[in-house]
Amino acid sequence: MCHSHKKLSVQFADAVRYLVLFSAFTAAASCASSQASLGRQAEASANTLAWLNEHHGFVHFISLERLLGRVTAQLSGSIFRAALERKFDRGSTEYFRSFPWQVFVLEEETPNAFSLGAGVIVITRGMLERASSEAALAAVIAHEMSHQMLGHTAEALDAAAPGEPVPHGHYSLEQEIAADTLSIKMLHVAGYSLNSSAEALTIDYRIAGTDVSPVPPRWLELRMANIAQEIRTYPPHLPGLTSSREFAYVQQRLAGL
Ligand SMILES: [Zn+2]
Repeated sequence: MCHSHKKLSVQFADAVRYLVLFSAFTAAASCASSQASLGRQAEASANTLAWLNEHHGFVHFISLERLLGRVTAQLSGSIFRAALERKFDRGSTEYFRSFPWQVFVLEEETPNAFSLGAGVIVITRGMLERASSEAALAAVIAHEMSHQMLGHTAEALDAAAPGEPVPHGHYSLEQEIAADTLSIKMLHVAGYSLNSSAEALTIDYRIAGTDVSPVPPRWLELRMANIAQEIRTYPPHLPGLTSSREFAYVQQRLAGL
């Protein structure tokens, strides 16, 4: 795709440079099969980011970037234990920990979140505005990270037309459930309140009729049942972080923009 880069922010340009570097790095390294398409993912991500930047733009201000950076770091720190329990081999665990996770906030009112691959996650401004707590925001991010760690995003990218972003509708019910299960583990290890996270994993941020690719209602029921069952495997009344002053401040700033 050919893009005008007039509207690129510094942060966005950095991300593209990072992705290009990362793609060069992974092309040079000999990787396991699950990592083989990472160079292609990085390229697809960079193209889609450029397209989204041109057509919607991204929201960014310092406190938002700090919040997203902290939540993402907390979650990626939890990957090690969560991944070990899922019996990923040691190589992939190390690999996922070093993934260049980055969350972008798209200037778009429709609440949604999706993965572009190569560690890039996009959430819409509408989603961030509707998140009821930091734990809810973390749940959305953890769910997208899980899709990438489990290889779902790479698979969806292989099936998608070049340059097409990968929305939720491209995943199977089985993949959604696997991503929910892994994200609950990550949220637990990262110290978030699971009950505050739970609803955000499914319907909380999707308003009926606005989803770009609606899924059968039965899916949500089955996902909620799995989430409830997973949460029951952790000790009840476990203290966990629900929200933070930083999160409240970011939502306030967002409302004023
Ligand atoms: Zn999903």
